[in-house]
Amino acid sequence: MMASRKVASLRLPPLPTVGELIKLYRLRAEKQLSQNFLLDLNLTDKLVRSAGNLNGAHVCEVGPGPGGLTRSILNAGVADLLVVEKDSRFLPGLKLLSEAAPDRMRIAHADILTYKLERRFPAELSKPWEDEPPNLHIIGNLPFNVSTPLIIRWLENIANRTGPFTYGRTQLTLTFQKEVVERLTASTGSKQRSRLSIMAQYLCTVHKCFLIPGQAFVPKPKVDVGVVHFTPLPQAQIQQSFKLVEKLVRNVFQFRRKHCHKGIAMLFPEAHRPEMTQEMMQRADVDPVLLPTHLTIPHIRALADAYAGLCAEEPGLLSYEFREELRLKHARKKKHSDSS
Ligand code: SAM
Repeated sequence: MMASRKVASLRLPPLPTVGELIKLYRLRAEKQLSQNFLLDLNLTDKLVRSAGNLNGAHVCEVGPGPGGLTRSILNAGVADLLVVEKDSRFLPGLKLLSEAAPDRMRIAHADILTYKLERRFPAELSKPWEDEPPNLHIIGNLPFNVSTPLIIRWLENIANRTGPFTYGRTQLTLTFQKEVVERLTASTGSKQRSRLSIMAQYLCTVHKCFLIPGQAFVPKPKVDVGVVHFTPLPQAQIQQSFKLVEKLVRNVFQFRRKHCHKGIAMLFPEAHRPEMTQEMMQRADVDPVLLPTHLTIPHIRALADAYAGLCAEEPGLLSYEFREELRLKHARKKKHSDSS
């Protein structure tokens, strides 16, 4: 009873609707910046519920825009909300919201791609990595050209326990275009299995929450949108460095319809390619004729361990890039033909 009264007292007082605010501050969505606003409060509430119980939580919302999702986060009873918004046109409307939620909302006018989230929350929130996740959540409905590079950066942060993950296994609830949602959550053998599936799933439990039809946004985007929840795993499923895993997976998936040994071969200099590929496949004990989409995370782990072993024996192998070798070869050929 006491708790529900406390949550009720944290609900926002009557405010102009988000639609009215958009009109008041003339917040035309910038189509070229993919600003698609979510104004249906039932959907923003549902998105916030996907993040879990936020009563008393610390939250960072990325790209609040006109503040529809922000209202749902505040109404969920959060103790502290930091919003990070790049576009200054939204600041007056966000200020109005923060005044309606005294001492609970902070506004950062910044680009989330360069903003440092560490140290923006109390150090007491931190939990040892293997413990329960800290009471800190990141939530956002960002433009798709920002959300995909951002999740790749945050996956690297998870691997290295840096950035927002200095607090422990901070959970993320983010929107992506439907096609990216499918790739993030694809299981072994499915058509959408890709680099992104492996990179996300070896580090996190990745859960597809629900799809939002395009017409729920103003203006309507060309694609449907999905909500994905990420919880970093207490122990990553692959123990090698993020850079090594990223390089391996990038090479494996470059020929996604060919046997996996084709892409793996490109990890090695041309002069030693066949024998080193065979050595790596034998050490990993992975069938070279599996398709990349049929590789499980334990397969990738075995390949990463075998590749790390070979890199330790061959200085310079980890920094080898076949495209660079190809570029130098073409340059030499051109020089030779120009001089003859
Ligand atoms: N969250 C709001 C909603 O659901 O209605 C707005 C969504 S709109 C798709 C994306 C928002 O992210 C815009 O307000 C935009 O200005 C902001 N944004 C875009 N890139 C950003 C960045 N790099 N850092 C911070 N905010 C950004």
